[in-house]
Amino acid sequence: MAHPEIENIKKRAEEKFDATVAQLVSYLKIPAISCDTAHYGDVEKLASVVRGDLEQAGFDNARVLTLDGALPLVAAERLKAGPDKPTVLIYGHLDLQPVKGEPWETPPHEAVEKNGRLYARGSADDMGGWVSHMAALSSWLEVAGELPLNVKLVIEGEEEIGSPNLERYMDAHPDVFDADLMVLTDCENPSPEIPGLTVSLRGLYEVKLELEALTSDVHSGLWGNMGPDVSTSLIKLLSRIIDDDGRLNLGRQTVDAAWAKAAWDVPMGDDVIRTGAHLIDAVEPLPTRDRAPAEWVWRQPALTVLSTTLPREDQHKNALRAKAAATLSIRLAPGQTKKDMRALLEEQLLTNVPGGCKVTLTDMPASAESWLYEPQGPAFDAADRAYEKAWGKKLLQIGVGGSIPFVALFGRRFGDLPLILNGVMDPETGAHGPNESMHLGVFKKAIVANVYLLDELSQVPGLVRRK
Ligand SMILES: [Zn+2]
Repeated sequence: MAHPEIENIKKRAEEKFDATVAQLVSYLKIPAISCDTAHYGDVEKLASVVRGDLEQAGFDNARVLTLDGALPLVAAERLKAGPDKPTVLIYGHLDLQPVKGEPWETPPHEAVEKNGRLYARGSADDMGGWVSHMAALSSWLEVAGELPLNVKLVIEGEEEIGSPNLERYMDAHPDVFDADLMVLTDCENPSPEIPGLTVSLRGLYEVKLELEALTSDVHSGLWGNMGPDVSTSLIKLLSRIIDDDGRLNLGRQTVDAAWAKAAWDVPMGDDVIRTGAHLIDAVEPLPTRDRAPAEWVWRQPALTVLSTTLPREDQHKNALRAKAAATLSIRLAPGQTKKDMRALLEEQLLTNVPGGCKVTLTDMPASAESWLYEPQGPAFDAADRAYEKAWGKKLLQIGVGGSIPFVALFGRRFGDLPLILNGVMDPETGAHGPNESMHLGVFKKAIVANVYLLDELSQVPGLVRRK
């Protein structure tokens, strides 16, 4: 049964919406840019402000944790609902992407409201994300006097540099992360009208393909046709792993039929792709070939040539070249590993090389794990109910085409728990670029959804893991 005060709690959250936005705006003034040593002090300052605010909101044990060589992490908890109630961990991050060299129309660290959106670096990624939880939690405490379940908060200070120390924090402070389920708030909604539940990430694998044929460049008039041209051999070799549409033809996944069908509901039509991918007028999006665009960008591996040593214009000369190389980036499908892809590449690229060139394939350092998750069970039904009340719609399962190290890490360490990945971003947010913004209607719905989510989750039996 719903909490008797639930509608009053929701009302309270709505009434103080302007105050919540004001609090968010005050956080956004602090340029907590984690990739820039000049702003480490700002990350520390914001962590300390947030710690104080959490304490004031009624959280216990609000603390700024530190580790050698790491930026701080804020932790707080309220565990007064009792042992029969589950403990939910809520994750967000307070650090920001840099703004240097970007053409901002308004000052990046002075939030400006325009056409129903709040413009500032970090507005949606990820300050609005965890502030939406703070607003919901404080509304609960103000109206009901207590939370309906046990809550732990973790607010990281290094997400934008790839969470290099998050696992060390997990090892050093297991109690901070010990929970029955987790809500990780740093993800996107497919549109301001449709709430998203992120269930997959593509991984990243980079390899260098090198061909070698001659001890030095030689005259092409003398030896063209008898000595191999490594450049054309490289192109021909690469074409083995590319289909007629220009996509990688290796490691293609068979996705769950129900998911594949639902993927057509994701608002990713030609216009969205045209705008998002910056296509010129003469170019169409790649053909769908019976797979939804969302499936292509979230669930299938993709190849991009990052660089080559093919002769450049300023190296123009009539010569066969001694060597040629291409560095390839492969977005791994969710669930696919580097090892899987490496085996497929070796099979195609290391035998019968055009021109008989010597070939090597070397792993490059850049790398990220993929992640594939099955959101099943009563916690997700509870989340759907909460979102239906706040958004009028259930969560749409989406993926992320890029890689988010903290998600892969949580997935690897806590993949046996219900993991609810949500957030306040939408396709217009422009995270990591100029004029980042958050849709204020999305922010309000996120707060209300979080109010209901706590109530719904508190009523789900069996979420508490018996030790
Ligand atoms: Zn983020």
